[in-house]
Amino acid sequence: MAAPPVDAACQNVNVARNRRKARYVREWEEQVAAANLAARRAKGAPVDPVKIPPYPDVLRDSDGSYRDFFEDIEFTCQDCGVEHVWTAADQKWWFEDAGGSLYSRAVRCVTCRAARRDAHGG
Ligand SMILES: [Zn+2]
Repeated sequence: MAAPPVDAACQNVNVARNRRKARYVREWEEQVAAANLAARRAKGAPVDPVKIPPYPDVLRDSDGSYRDFFEDIEFTCQDCGVEHVWTAADQKWWFEDAGGSLYSRAVRCVTCRAARRDAHGG
C-alpha cells in the first residue's frame, strides 16, 4: 500500500495534536473551575439541606448550576443607593432560621431598614 501523501499525514498529526490540546485545555479549565468553586465554598456558609429545599433560585449560579453554600451578594441599597454586601452568614440565618422567603432578596441596608422601621412606628 502506498504511503499517504505527506500533506495528508501532516494534517492527521495536526488533527491529533489539536485534539490532545483541546482535551488538555478542557481538563485544565475543569480543574480551575473546581478550585474556584472550592475557594468560594470555603468562604461561604454551607446550606443545611434539611432546612432548604433542593435547587432554590437563591442558590443558582449564572451558568445554571446550583451551589450547596450561601455566598456574599453585593447589592445597591434601594433607599440610600450605597453598595452593600448581604453576607453568606446573614443569608443562612435569614433563609434557614428566620424563615425568610426563598424568593426574597436584600434591597435595603441595615441603616435604611432601621430608619424605615422607625418611620413606620415599630
Ligand atoms: Zn441604605
